[in-house]
Amino acid sequence: MKSYITTPIYYVNGSPHIGHAFTSVMADILKRNRVALGYELMLSTGVDEHGQKNQEAAAELDMSVTDYLEMRGKEFRDVFDRLGVAYDYFVRTSREGHKTAVAGMEQAIFDKGLIVKKQYTGTYCKGCEEFKKESDLTEDGQCPLHPTMKVEQTDETNYFLMMEPFRERLLQHIADNPDFVQPEAFRNELKQMLSEPLEDLCISRPKARVTLGVDLPFDTDFVTYVWFDALANYLTNIGWPEEGYEDWWAECEHLIGKDILKPHGVYWPIMLMAADLPLPKKLSVHSHWVGAGGMKMSKSIGNVVDPIEVIDKLGVDALRWYLARHMRADSDSQISVDLITQTYNSELGNKVGNLLSRAAKFSKARFDGKLPAPGPLNAQDEVIRKSVVEATSGMSAWMNLADIPARAQAIITVSDEMNNYFAEQAPWDLIKNEETRERCQTVIYVTLDCLRVVMEALLQIIPGSAGKALDMLNAPEAACPWKPELDKLQGDSDLNEIETLFPRVQ
Ligand SMILES: [Zn+2]
Repeated sequence: MKSYITTPIYYVNGSPHIGHAFTSVMADILKRNRVALGYELMLSTGVDEHGQKNQEAAAELDMSVTDYLEMRGKEFRDVFDRLGVAYDYFVRTSREGHKTAVAGMEQAIFDKGLIVKKQYTGTYCKGCEEFKKESDLTEDGQCPLHPTMKVEQTDETNYFLMMEPFRERLLQHIADNPDFVQPEAFRNELKQMLSEPLEDLCISRPKARVTLGVDLPFDTDFVTYVWFDALANYLTNIGWPEEGYEDWWAECEHLIGKDILKPHGVYWPIMLMAADLPLPKKLSVHSHWVGAGGMKMSKSIGNVVDPIEVIDKLGVDALRWYLARHMRADSDSQISVDLITQTYNSELGNKVGNLLSRAAKFSKARFDGKLPAPGPLNAQDEVIRKSVVEATSGMSAWMNLADIPARAQAIITVSDEMNNYFAEQAPWDLIKNEETRERCQTVIYVTLDCLRVVMEALLQIIPGSAGKALDMLNAPEAACPWKPELDKLQGDSDLNEIETLFPRVQ
């Protein structure tokens, strides 16, 4: 069983921001989920090194393009490493094999007569690196996504891919495969984009304007439009056009933000159809992050959340947890350092980390450094054990992008129940009398074994902290395929040193 997950490849004209961190962390969570289910995984993430904006960003810093790309590539890679993103392949579009494959795809489409050369007079947004129709612009004639950039008038000869011949077929594909675009709101948005005849897609840029890109194989006065080149990474990462990519490609899922639905939902499928290649299995679309109170993040307001700052202050799992817990697929979600801090303290700290710390330290102090063996279970023990298995069972089933927050929430809800159980059983009273000592052993064992199950489930979301907790408990390695199973901790076994998992942060 194979599964291939991709993130977009990110433009390197600036430093990595929370949006990049988010998509790559969600891809990592989905990967860990599927690996736990026994799938063989390929996760790709990386950078888009071509296009006018990258070229200009290098010039602004007075750096050579090669040095600039090297610096940014390393910066992105370092951030994903610090985020614990277990990518299998890091994409750089400057790679020779990628460029050769892109040129090959273009030549094949050109040879079929689907690419035409013509003059284009119209409006161009440098921010989007796209030609704009009048209907795409705001009332005062600017790009709605880049209102401060000022669109330019262009009069250029370029190469265009014919799109309209494929529109009906793409609509039919969407109708036949309801899972092709998720969630539904974005499937409807895509259908809307395809409801009118499609204009030809400009796939070239004259070298007079842009040099950073893949030469068009049939006319070297031009480089390839950055999107055409970038989208092809999804195939070139798995070795296309050489054999062996097919099994991965058949199970390919693209994670994308809603702002790039059109390139992924319209351009890319049509490029593939034009090249006689099958479409990816699924587009999983997410919305964006905005500041607290729903304000757009901006430097001037000062509400930009920098992933590295958050990691330095709160640790990587505070950020991963917040993103997983509060993402909404079909509407924007709010984020700020305060919100992340609150969630970290109140959920990871108070509900999960604190219980582990109290129960494990109690066990070590009262049972000679060990986890005691349990006696007979009573009804309350059975109730909490059942709840833990139910709440974590979502992590032993296939998880879609939109499922992530609810499954994280289920773990917090059951952690509340575990805290209540622990408080009601009051092991600190049970230990006082010889006749309730065995009962105390059972309560400690049940609590810590339930926490072990919770931590095994959390390996998919916050692998670093969950792994540490499992080490403290001296837990055996979790089975694969994983499912929540009780009684895997050994009674009368040594506990390791118990550290505070989520130290409180003000
Ligand atoms: Zn724009």
